[in-house]
Amino acid sequence: MRMFPRFTKFFCSLILVSLSSCIGGYPDSFNLNNALGKENLVYNLIIGSGPAGLNAAIYCARSGFRPLIVTGESLGGNLIMTTEIENVPGIDMITGPELADRIIKQAEKFGSEFLYDSVQKIDFSSWPYRVTTENGEMLHAMTVVVATGKSPRKLGVPGEDEYYGRGVSHCAICDGRFYKGKDVIVVGGGDSAVEEAIQLLNFGVRKVTVLVRKNKMRAIRCLQDRLKSEDDIDVVYNTSIKEIIGDGEDITKVKVVDNVSGKEYFIPASAIFLAIGSDPNTWFLKGQVDMNERNELIMKGRTQQTSVKALYAAGSIEQGAIDQIIIAEGKGRQAGIEAVKFLTEELGLDRKMMEKLKGNMFRAKDKKATPVKLGEIKTVAQFNKDVLQSKIPVLIDFYTEECLACKKLMPAVSEIAGEHAANLKVFKMDAGDTKFADILRTHKVVKVPRILLFKGGKVVEDSQIILKNRSDKNLSRKDISDMVERQK
Ligand code: NDP
Repeated sequence: MRMFPRFTKFFCSLILVSLSSCIGGYPDSFNLNNALGKENLVYNLIIGSGPAGLNAAIYCARSGFRPLIVTGESLGGNLIMTTEIENVPGIDMITGPELADRIIKQAEKFGSEFLYDSVQKIDFSSWPYRVTTENGEMLHAMTVVVATGKSPRKLGVPGEDEYYGRGVSHCAICDGRFYKGKDVIVVGGGDSAVEEAIQLLNFGVRKVTVLVRKNKMRAIRCLQDRLKSEDDIDVVYNTSIKEIIGDGEDITKVKVVDNVSGKEYFIPASAIFLAIGSDPNTWFLKGQVDMNERNELIMKGRTQQTSVKALYAAGSIEQGAIDQIIIAEGKGRQAGIEAVKFLTEELGLDRKMMEKLKGNMFRAKDKKATPVKLGEIKTVAQFNKDVLQSKIPVLIDFYTEECLACKKLMPAVSEIAGEHAANLKVFKMDAGDTKFADILRTHKVVKVPRILLFKGGKVVEDSQIILKNRSDKNLSRKDISDMVERQK
């Protein structure tokens, strides 16, 4: 329901602003004149493109500012990894990617811009804040909303990095199908662990052993009951993994310890699925913004304001956040409202000033590559001809239908295909298609998304190698771009 045109509300607040600026007086550093002459200005910089970030952007965009969303690795955030959602008011059931798509389109419709990049550093020593991105953009942000969400935790045991993507996984729905008929382990005692275990049975694994480090699970009762009703799932309590062991190619077993008796023993397994919670992506703010011991940001009172002025936060990175989409959306919306109020009511930003700043605003659209529709390898013969015999390098994006992480990566691959259209062929290939079994075996594709770059019929770049010794196991647009650049 739209009760007022967008600008009516905006100018009502401007009248208030003008009054308050007569009475108030602002610290020099938060003076709009500081923004004059600064390049790459952004009124509302939103970091993260999950439900919290997108909702912050929707409010800012509807208020007449063009918020810039720095998407991070995954446009849509963790929503893209969510299967069925049944608790969004007014919607019976929707998948995460569908919901993300709808909110992204809505944010875009009102004038939000997207930068497919990640923030590396923010310098708060002067205002507007200087923001540096992974791809080297330097932005001046007048307000910042951090909505970077959380990333899956690691165990930190020997063998975990070595076998990541070759048996160690964070995503049953992405990689479960590669372990049909095999024995696998799920680590964790929360809701995710239960969901992963059930998902793996759906993929036809032979047996799932769920390792819980304490004497009880954290998962809600009904999910625990579901687990107990499955004959092919064993839950082993008081047990932690000490080492992941393999033959150099594949995982063969894990060394575990009974946390009560201290006894160590081995469990044979072909894959380990980690569901041990997640940590906030707030490392780039460390030492500059108040956080608790879990690196969650501390809000001021009932606001989305952090300990740094004009820096707001929303979503699962907040101290005490409840992990629910609708709550993240609401908090994001509130952060957007506070950011807009700061500009209009506290600083007195008005149309005249916006006109003066116009030429210095950052425009992401100018920099966006045009994505191309990816061709698909449909037969082994086509793979032999179009990939192995190609005269120019060929990038293959292995995916499966169920893999949401693959869906989330594919737009970036399409963009890279667009950027390098003249000297690179890019195809997607369904790793769930049994006719490709030999090709998958040859190239050890047991995890998707997986990117291979072929040159002269040989693999010259492999996403698996890039991720091997990295703590962050998500493949980013930059990783793929770098693979291509190195082979130019
Ligand atoms: P949780 O933080 O809830 O659970 C993490 C689990 O992993 C805990 O059992 C924890 O053990 C265990 N763990 C943590 N570190 C280690 C380690 N190093 N070694 C072994 N075990 C470890 O994470 P989830 O991802 O399961 O859930 C996150 C949130 O998302 C929750 O609020 C959950 O309710 C929600 N969610 C809801 C779903 C649904 O509604 N269907 C589905 C999935 C998630 P310990 O208990 O000993 O700390």
